[in-house]
Amino acid sequence: MSPALPSYIEAKQNIAPWEMFLEQVARVEPYLGVWSPWIDTLRRPRRALIVDVPVQMDDGGIAHFEGYRVHHNTSRGPAKGGVRFHPDVTLAEVMALSAWMTIKTALVNVPFGGGKGGVRVDPSKLSIGELERLTRRYTAEITPLIGPLQDIPAPDVNTNPQIMAWMMDTYASRQGALRTNVVTGKPISLGGSPARADATGRGVFICAAETADHMGLDLKGARVAIQGFGNVGAGAARFFSEAGARVVAVQDITGAIYASGGLDPARLQEHIRAGGKLGEFTGAEALEMDAFWDVETDILVPAALEGQIDAKVAARIKTKFVVEGANGPTTPAGDDVFKRRNIPVVPDVLANSGGVIVSYFEWATDASSLMWDEGQIVHRLRHVLEAAFQSVWSLHKHQNIDLRTAAYVLACQRILEARRLRGLFP
Ligand code: NAD
Repeated sequence: MSPALPSYIEAKQNIAPWEMFLEQVARVEPYLGVWSPWIDTLRRPRRALIVDVPVQMDDGGIAHFEGYRVHHNTSRGPAKGGVRFHPDVTLAEVMALSAWMTIKTALVNVPFGGGKGGVRVDPSKLSIGELERLTRRYTAEITPLIGPLQDIPAPDVNTNPQIMAWMMDTYASRQGALRTNVVTGKPISLGGSPARADATGRGVFICAAETADHMGLDLKGARVAIQGFGNVGAGAARFFSEAGARVVAVQDITGAIYASGGLDPARLQEHIRAGGKLGEFTGAEALEMDAFWDVETDILVPAALEGQIDAKVAARIKTKFVVEGANGPTTPAGDDVFKRRNIPVVPDVLANSGGVIVSYFEWATDASSLMWDEGQIVHRLRHVLEAAFQSVWSLHKHQNIDLRTAAYVLACQRILEARRLRGLFP
């Protein structure tokens, strides 16, 4: 039998996420005025690196994994974006995720471009030693692209502060010098930022609270459903619950649950950390996986993976508004259905930007050896995010465009202006 083809060979690519991004760019183009001649800049990544990641396994064998690091755009600053470990990672997915980072960093006006990385691996099947060797080899392979002024990785799906610590250490070993701000989302004892771990979830909550305010919805008692109960979903659930909202439904890769009175996010997180499945959680009834989308709610937070809400799913959803915790959870066809049904969607590039905003604080304070306490960080996060939210909301109202298009208009103008001012070289 011939060896399996790598996933980046054309016939095996899943190009759906990249096509989604291209469609989003097409939708913003009519609103870009003088900047539209530069828009093709966004339709291709600046550079993409494919690496082979050979790992010595515990049984003595050697396994090979595909790894990627993509810089979508660096007109406004170094590439910034997470690293995903997931069996479905592909080049096209990483390209799309890096492009969404370009839009996000511009929208919230932090001095970064967009990047992303990933390894096609199921980390739940690796021992801790294998995971460390995989991380270190991947980091060594992408070292030509990363650096505090070139490209700064961070956690994403299935990666965490420990993995960032290994990446920082591997980079330091190869450079012969410790530069803590080569990655963000590090453990606090290594220069990590106090509020980084739950920054994305907090940002999702802040955006939901702003939207509720504009729509005249009281968060107290509001019903919230969350897809994905990892870093983003569980973090957001905690903030919703603290504000008096009821988290009535949760879905993750293992199942779905429902509790009309609201479930206790802290207890659920403990249950999951202890290796429990959603369906085994006491204090909520188990739902069929797909029935999650039929639960009636006030706020829906997709916080798992991209492409979850297509036109069919969007037509079933009964909610007042959607806040995208995940990157790219709603397809353009799903967006059209929500628009027709008058259900606002707070787009990922705004709603989940809390993580990159606090990452920027971590990068900047590391570089200047400054220390900010949690209160200062949360205060500044709120300030940056609320300002971005207000500009998006007011453009959405004034131009009668959906929130995603409004966010893209603001971000693309900034990116393309920077691109034009820098000019072409040579
Ligand atoms: P995570 O690995 O901590 O959690 C992912 C969650 O999604 C898990 O609960 C998992 O069970 C669930 N999930 C995975 N596949 C699923 C499926 N097919 N159906 C239902 N649930 C599924 O990841 P995370 O860091 O919370 O990231 C979640 C999303 O948020 C991703 O789209 C990521 O790119 C985005 N995001 C993360 C951050 C961050 O700071 N971690 C920042 C911005 C955006």
